[in-house]
Amino acid sequence: MVNEMNTNTNNDAGKPSGELEIPGVITTNSNAISEFLKKTKVQDIINWGRKNSLWFMTQPMGCCGVEMIATGCAHYDTDRFGIIPRNSPRQADVMIISGYVTKKYFPALKKVYEQMPSPKWVIAMGDCAISGGPFYESYSTVQNIDEIFPIDVYIPGCPPRPEALIQGFVELQKKITAKKDNAAMYGEA
Ligand code: SF4
Repeated sequence: MVNEMNTNTNNDAGKPSGELEIPGVITTNSNAISEFLKKTKVQDIINWGRKNSLWFMTQPMGCCGVEMIATGCAHYDTDRFGIIPRNSPRQADVMIISGYVTKKYFPALKKVYEQMPSPKWVIAMGDCAISGGPFYESYSTVQNIDEIFPIDVYIPGCPPRPEALIQGFVELQKKITAKKDNAAMYGEA
């Protein structure tokens, strides 16, 4: 009787037949999760949580970095939106490329991005990050940063003010609201 119940439970979860069954333990797989996301409103809840807890890495680069720091301080108080400066990439969701990226700094920036858990987002802040700005084709800066990191939001300006960065976060929140996860994000494809 117990075995029969376990078999039914696993079939409900979309588990392929022939896999090891552990009594009392409900197992699932990425396809079952994918189906669950499609058939329920849980994706909206996940997106709601993600968009209201955007912790961003505090790694100022160029002069735009000063504006980024100001955005996270008391006057603009992004904490009220759940947008919180975070010093560890392990707990950060958003990387802000706040200005020019020098060739010397680039390996560290790449490492920070790789250490951030998925899903993660990238904001290009300022003309230097978007197109090179005054450092276009400079000998010391990395060009075409959008070909290296998957940029989600571009914020033009030299430098963009904190209000512009907050608007960038709002645009990112809209993007996250429309996000659909796929099975590959939960392990096997
Ligand atoms: S865009 Fe302007 S303010 Fe920002 S890092 Fe470049 S030169 Fe500085």
